[in-house]
Amino acid sequence: MTLDLPLVARGKVREVYDAGPGRLLLVASDRISAYDHVLPTPIPDKGRVLTQLSVWWFQQLAPVLDAFGATHHLLSATDVPAAVAGRAVLVRRLEMLPVECVARGYLAGSGTAEYARTGSIRDVPLPPGLVEGSRLPEPVFTPSTKAAAGEHDEAIDFARVESLVGAARAAELRELTLALYRRGAEIAAGAGILLADTKVEFGLADDGGLVLGDEVLTPDSSRFWPAASWSPGSPQPSFDKQYVRDWLTSTGWDRVSPPPALPDDVVAATRDRYVAAYEQLTGTTFR
Ligand code: ATP
Ligand code: MG
Repeated sequence: MTLDLPLVARGKVREVYDAGPGRLLLVASDRISAYDHVLPTPIPDKGRVLTQLSVWWFQQLAPVLDAFGATHHLLSATDVPAAVAGRAVLVRRLEMLPVECVARGYLAGSGTAEYARTGSIRDVPLPPGLVEGSRLPEPVFTPSTKAAAGEHDEAIDFARVESLVGAARAAELRELTLALYRRGAEIAAGAGILLADTKVEFGLADDGGLVLGDEVLTPDSSRFWPAASWSPGSPQPSFDKQYVRDWLTSTGWDRVSPPPALPDDVVAATRDRYVAAYEQLTGTTFR
């Protein structure tokens, strides 16, 4: 697919196009990435599910942003080229801040590994006895750097965020990320879903204002667990790409060589999870 617009960047999942002064078109593909590799097999409808879920969340989260004097980057989800309708958004072009803002309310994945090693996550000490899937006493801010293409994001502590963006901005990022997580978790809980963790990205508008960019609270940026089956002590069943990660692990793939193609049943089960997340969260049918 090529659009008659200048391509600004191509990420693992999305293409970014110049859409005129101060504007970008973000186009989500059906590509799926895991362990920092793009898998050779696309997941049908994934681009549309992620785009539409993200748009829904931007609307839900607007009051939280407003309370911080911030905004989001979404301009339109409909004023987009027909060829990418449903999986593209027109957004304000931002100067992205060099921090991936992660909030965690539960222990999972790399967070569990870090806790097992150090008893804390970043510079936040945690009580003893927590296990994979445990709820944390309070949500914690666990930032990382935005890695260049092909590199892993690097975990950083709060002091490093302060040195990257300044102390006042760093505190603002932490408080706003945690507020977005709390509101997202509250809304998800109402739909029977635990929001274990999520990653958001912020940028600055021309006037210096803080703007929530990228995608928000999608299965690519978040861990969603069915609340009914939550049972700490082992990896949780999930609506996100943990299912694909687990399948990849079961094949014995070394995470270095090119990843294997996904069989049809794994593709279908993955698609079902993405669609189920969308439908359960928004309470609407995915078309
Ligand atoms: P990957 O997600 O594959 O690790 P990536 O995050 O660089 O890499 P994508 O998520 O596919 O790639 O592409 C989206 C890119 O657009 C990201 O770099 C993101 O930071 C950037 N971006 C998102 N919103 C805006 C915006 N409003 N203005 C400028 N850049 C943005
Ligand atoms: Mg990204």
